[in-house]
Amino acid sequence: MSSSTGGIGATEAHTRKRRTFKDCQLLDAADRLAHFRGKFSLPENTVYLDGNSLGPLPVATPARIAEVVEQEWGKDLISSWNKHGWFIMANKVASKIARIVGARAHEMVVGDSTSVNLFKVVSAAARLRPDRHVIVSERANFPTDLYMLEGLIRQLGSKYVLRLADNDGEINSSITADVAVVVLTHVSFRTGRMLDMAKYTQLAHEAGALIVWDLAHSAGAVHVDLAAAGADFAVGCGYKFLNGGPGAPAFLYVAERLQELCEQPLCGWFGHARPFAFESPYAPAEGAQRFQCGTPPILSLAALEVGVDLMLEASQEHLLAKSAALCELFITLVKQECGRWDFRLVSPRNACERGSQICLAHPESYAIVQALILENVVGDFRAPDILRFGFAPLYNSYTTVWTAVQKLQLVMREGLWDKPEYKQRSAVT
Ligand SMILES: *Cc1c(COP(=O)(O)O)cnc(C)c1O
Repeated sequence: MSSSTGGIGATEAHTRKRRTFKDCQLLDAADRLAHFRGKFSLPENTVYLDGNSLGPLPVATPARIAEVVEQEWGKDLISSWNKHGWFIMANKVASKIARIVGARAHEMVVGDSTSVNLFKVVSAAARLRPDRHVIVSERANFPTDLYMLEGLIRQLGSKYVLRLADNDGEINSSITADVAVVVLTHVSFRTGRMLDMAKYTQLAHEAGALIVWDLAHSAGAVHVDLAAAGADFAVGCGYKFLNGGPGAPAFLYVAERLQELCEQPLCGWFGHARPFAFESPYAPAEGAQRFQCGTPPILSLAALEVGVDLMLEASQEHLLAKSAALCELFITLVKQECGRWDFRLVSPRNACERGSQICLAHPESYAIVQALILENVVGDFRAPDILRFGFAPLYNSYTTVWTAVQKLQLVMREGLWDKPEYKQRSAVT
């Protein structure tokens, strides 16, 4: 299987020792994260490889939500803002996420969606470089990022342009002396390709630009050290690898050195220095706090905190090593078990250049994903022809990877994908 030649390289597989189910069982037996599987209430017999779209439900979440609803909201009512720490809850969760991505507590806020947070930080960054009017991103970036940039540019006026790079080399050449802000997604949602954060941050800085990293597919999945990379701003998702629940609040990072200079456009009362002084005019809070906007979603924060706590309970080192090992095993097994079909590896072959997901291209990918879901292997489809499998290390095992590949083989061998109903696409894919 190679990213250039098209098909799967069956010859290579023959020269290597075959991997067996037994091998996978041995790997599971030695897995120091194995017990985390029981901390998620996944349906029995489901291989869930879509935690990069929606992380599964932690076992502890329903009780925590019930507590916040019934006791804190139901009985203690408005006193809960103080009594149960609702007022500082977003900060508390932010300080925990900060530890996962190499930031300090006062450099992180949690709230709003990734899209909205991106708008806030890119707008603030552009204001810090008023003499420059180019915003650089990638054409293959997640569409919401590009939509938000287009919308922001319409607000900023016709002097501004969005310059989109079509490949990694073009990112380099796009970062010229007229660039105000570079907006890059660390791990590509479509291919799993991971950019070298320190390298691109340095390129942006050498050109005098600021950089914003989107960590939607990175936080909780790959090694991220915002401080070491010298990053200026970052945003990311709570509902993917952090297992915070559907529509979980997103996060936003601003390096300390920039905070006091930043003005963000959505300056609501929760970003005010003294929200309960009810004074005017607006006076921004210190630190990243000024990037808050309105009242935080307490129920969603409670759920997110459970997911983040689980992530912090596991050793980062083990998490990252396991995530890489699961991905590697999947590639090896697809090559070994499904070599005769037309799958092409879209993710980089080199583990250091990819996130915790593997993407395969196939002309019938949509139908194959649907047939796999019916076999209880949940991955997803991304247009135009990609099968995407996320290998979140907290709840996936080596034997689940084995099962996934066996099911893929079954779907192909029996032609289970070839059904008229699989030619119809649902609204959410
Ligand atoms: C999932 C994802 C988002 C999601 O944005 P929301 O506003 O939280 O829905 C943004 N950017 C990237 C790169 C993503 O993968």
